[in-house]
Amino acid sequence: MTQAVVGSRKKKWLISIIVSQPLLIVLLVLMLIGLFITVFWVPFLLFSEKGDFDLGSGANYSWWSAPTKVNANGQPYLWPVPTVRYMTSGYMDSVDRDAAHLGIDIASEQGASNTELQPIYSMAAGKVVVAGSASGYGVMVSIDHGGGLVSIYGHLETALHVRPGDQVEQGQLLGRIGKGKVGRSTGPHLHFQVELNGVAVPPLDYVQPPTNVVPTELAYKKMNISLMQEWLGKRNSALANAEILGEIDRAGQSQNISPYLLIAITGQEQSFVPKDGNHADLIVKNPWNVFGCWCSGQGATLTTGESAIIAAKTIVKLSQNRPAGADPISWLNDPSNPQGVYAEHRGWYLGVSQFFKSILADVAS
Ligand SMILES: [Zn+2]
Repeated sequence: MTQAVVGSRKKKWLISIIVSQPLLIVLLVLMLIGLFITVFWVPFLLFSEKGDFDLGSGANYSWWSAPTKVNANGQPYLWPVPTVRYMTSGYMDSVDRDAAHLGIDIASEQGASNTELQPIYSMAAGKVVVAGSASGYGVMVSIDHGGGLVSIYGHLETALHVRPGDQVEQGQLLGRIGKGKVGRSTGPHLHFQVELNGVAVPPLDYVQPPTNVVPTELAYKKMNISLMQEWLGKRNSALANAEILGEIDRAGQSQNISPYLLIAITGQEQSFVPKDGNHADLIVKNPWNVFGCWCSGQGATLTTGESAIIAAKTIVKLSQNRPAGADPISWLNDPSNPQGVYAEHRGWYLGVSQFFKSILADVAS
């Protein structure tokens, strides 16, 4: 008797809540739907088709959980290819009928020429175990980080920057992504694998791609050297030289940066280095003013090719974490860029953008 009364009071209480708080009920239902989507859809989104990622416009992977592991200093491990963040194949994706994929494959969504020869860096400090040919990986590097942790970098270019037994720092250059079709793959890519006590573990527990990389419009595009030379010749530029332009083109390719952007920056920084100007022979070696200036210190010791590489690397670094919708060139000298700025003066990006636009229209079209 008492039980039944309590039961009916409970029902009435519930009905009165539903009647008096319709908004609350709607919210609860929405929360349940949200939970359902998170649990059942996200796993399929993680490694879905290429077209699902809009990488050029500042999309980010906010639904990826941050890496859960940190290095011996409590710092994050390093994504091994700062110029490329797209994954063409995920951990444990099936590649064969009977073999799961033990790592992740990293390639540029911009294509083979933006993937080939991109520099690869060690995810953490450690000792090089393998640096050379290895069955299944073509050319590979593996690094023992201690504590049973090993990272593996496969399908590399033959010329490596480390040898077995070398001690490497976190972020040390190991080699570059190999050219062309590698093994069973359809194009160049880095196979990146992490092992703990000899067993492959999810690489994304250790590293995460940068929130943003160089957008397609600033990425490498082979320079039309003769047209570029002609264009610069009309401006009486000391850069109007096929050999120098070849060096700039190679520097751009090595970092996946458009050589036309590099030329545009020399326009803003040095008016394309007028041939008859003072110190043209020195300025032409560092028209990007890397290390502050062509005129002194380290900035005065470089070749054109060396300073071009440093300028391109700087662009790669500054392009990271660009907010959605932010202009990619403006972001390079935006005061709120956490990586710093290429130049303090905000007019810098306007000048660079203008030159870049003209060069693309006249030379690259
Ligand atoms: Zn792979």
